[in-house]
Amino acid sequence: MKTIGMLGGMSWESTKVYYHHLNTMVKERAGGLSSAKILLSSVNFSELEACLQSADWVAIENTLGEEARKLEHAGADCLILCTNTMHKVYPGIETTLTIPFFHIADALGEHLATADIDTIGLLGTRFTTVEDFYAHRLKKKFDISTLIPDDDDIKIIDDIVFQELCLGIVREESRQKYLTIMQKLADRGAGSIALACTEIEMLVKPGDFHLPLSDTTYIHARKAVDFVLS
Ligand code: GLU
Repeated sequence: MKTIGMLGGMSWESTKVYYHHLNTMVKERAGGLSSAKILLSSVNFSELEACLQSADWVAIENTLGEEARKLEHAGADCLILCTNTMHKVYPGIETTLTIPFFHIADALGEHLATADIDTIGLLGTRFTTVEDFYAHRLKKKFDISTLIPDDDDIKIIDDIVFQELCLGIVREESRQKYLTIMQKLADRGAGSIALACTEIEMLVKPGDFHLPLSDTTYIHARKAVDFVLS
């Protein structure tokens, strides 16, 4: 079995979900006492979040690039960056690596293409939602259209991610707010709601909504497992 490099800690609440998914999938597929071979670099999210607030993407790319290269040198056979938002700096890191580096939006795009879904409603942080590194990639590589919430709703989603979910706080009131926003996206024609922030699966579960949910945490983890067991 090949080894998965995980670049996590953004937040550690979702990194532990990745860890759980990776091991559960490997156990299910390989059987017995099988578990995933993983190298994890887990950053201090407080430092990275400060860079986010000041939009210092150069510092983010430098920090994450250094950790990515450490994982490659330590023997990882592939890499996953366990956050959607930080994929803004994916291109600069990818060019410095020789191992496969699985973009989370590509994993989502492949999943949606297989499910024959061409329009999604996107739930993510403000950066993932309004900047072009995510929706643009889905359109260009997979011809998938992205519907985004309005400004007020983007703020509600973002505040709940950083002030609650990244701190491990899951509130029913917040879940109801998300479901209301999801319904607006459904009314506009979304065929699936993309949980394009790796903490959102803590709040909204399959079965909570009438449309299929595309959970990037699960889908991204599955991409890595497909590779290491191939
Ligand atoms: N984990 C989140 C995401 O998937 C947000 C935290 C971050 O800024 O990396 O986008």
